Amino acid sequence: MSTSALKRDRAAWERLAAGLAPESRALIAGRAVAARDGGVFDDVSPIDGRVVAQVARCRAADVDVAVKAARTSFESGPWRRMEPKDRKKILRRFAEAIRADSDNLALIETRDVGKPIVNSLAVDVANCADCIEYYAEFADKLYDEVAPTGPNDLALIRREPLGVVAAIVPWNYPLIISCWKVGPALLTGNSVVLKPAEQSPLSGIRLGELALEAGVPPGTFNVVPGFGEEAGKALALHGDVDLIAFTGSTEVGRLMLRYAAESNLKRVALELGGKTPQVVFADADLEEAAAGIAWGIYYNSGQTCHAGSRLIVQHAVKDQLLTAIEKVAATITLGHPLEPTTQMGALIDRGHMQRVLGYIDSGVAEGARIALGGRQALKDSGGFYVEATVLDHARNDMKVAREEIFGPVLSVMTFGDEAEALRVANDTPYGLAAAVWTSDINRAHRLSSGLRGGTVWVNAFDRSTMATPFGGFKLSGSGRDRSPHALDKYCDLKTIWTAYR
Ligand code: NAD
Repeated sequence: MSTSALKRDRAAWERLAAGLAPESRALIAGRAVAARDGGVFDDVSPIDGRVVAQVARCRAADVDVAVKAARTSFESGPWRRMEPKDRKKILRRFAEAIRADSDNLALIETRDVGKPIVNSLAVDVANCADCIEYYAEFADKLYDEVAPTGPNDLALIRREPLGVVAAIVPWNYPLIISCWKVGPALLTGNSVVLKPAEQSPLSGIRLGELALEAGVPPGTFNVVPGFGEEAGKALALHGDVDLIAFTGSTEVGRLMLRYAAESNLKRVALELGGKTPQVVFADADLEEAAAGIAWGIYYNSGQTCHAGSRLIVQHAVKDQLLTAIEKVAATITLGHPLEPTTQMGALIDRGHMQRVLGYIDSGVAEGARIALGGRQALKDSGGFYVEATVLDHARNDMKVAREEIFGPVLSVMTFGDEAEALRVANDTPYGLAAAVWTSDINRAHRLSSGLRGGTVWVNAFDRSTMATPFGGFKLSGSGRDRSPHALDKYCDLKTIWTAYR
């Protein structure tokens, strides 16, 4: 984060926001274009409920043009054939362009998503640049293989790009999740059509502009804003798309598989929902656990796929732990997202806020008790805010413990022994992540091997880098973002067998 950004107060951010006029048209074949039928949709800021832009509403005809541009660029453009070191240079320039545009990108993200500006700057934009840079470095360091054969044969196993990648992403971390897909897809020589979520369309378009400015050839990275059922569906059903790299809800993930089956059997990689358990034993450092648990559910107002939404704590220490969590929660400032001291901002839209409040009501109706929060906040703002909430006396069969709430709501359950803790933690259709808090090293190993999730944290929460893969078991999806493992899904393997004398 730049020093000047750190010094900015809310008034200074608001002045910058007032002058913000990001591109809101689609980006196809290197040009900003309106939807072919002239359609637009309102981009509403969850900060105050105001419309901040009219965005191109792409439909099937626009998607078709974007896919054609991506295909042309893939088949006859320079990107795939470029020397690896040159592709690396361009991707590194892209990462630097993101860094240079930090203030602008962070403002776009905060205004679209309602997350605190300090988080957009220090987490979203920073991680987005780091991700592109991370994958750039593979360009001239990744080798293909030679298989063991007899003396007169040579079998090369080459990684080849798939072709056209459709990246369909959600609204909770628009920049980060887009880059998790765009980075490895471009590095391996593919062309991309990105479909940002309709709630947060602008940072993806800006990302496309920055890629172009950095030297990614026109048509290699296209962006089609629009609704899921229109632009998203048309893209996923398109017969000339080779892979859908999807992040979003499990429900829409199922549709992606159906679209692939109904069209060209394109590949599908899915990063879906979660219902992460936080398992706390009586021997844990409870202060440390409380901080991890509170931030693990209240960060981004709980709108995180791996948010630690189920607390499963040993009976004996429940009261003590809840007191500690409430103490941490009291220090997390809920407020206007452009206020630099704000740590918890808005929920994405009115409908989602009502859905979250509805879940709290359903928990109470099923017998849970509100131990903290539970209400809408900052009502006069016109925006969509919900207090940090703890639902005590939850049971694992309640709706609040089974379904993804995607809001700042922690459901609290207790257990007697280790076997029960593991059973309750794994009793969920999801398997994105889990955490265990204990000072017993043997138990930590037993639990981390028994918990079903793509990531298991021990005495920590939400620690990760680009070097660690991210993705889910069970209904949380298939395939991994981040790390070298992510590259696999953007490539096909080709064996070239040569016999010689
Ligand atoms: P969503 O599934 O509603 O939408 C995701 C994307 O799919 C959006 O771009 C949307 O426009 C598009 N879409 C929606 N309906 C479609 C359709 N019928 N055809 C084609 N495209 C369609 O999800 P959301 O509400 O934007 O995001 C929240 C969800 O994303 C949560 O379930 C969350 O857990 C999940 N998520 C998962 C991860 C992960 O890495 N596992 C990360 C972030 C969010």
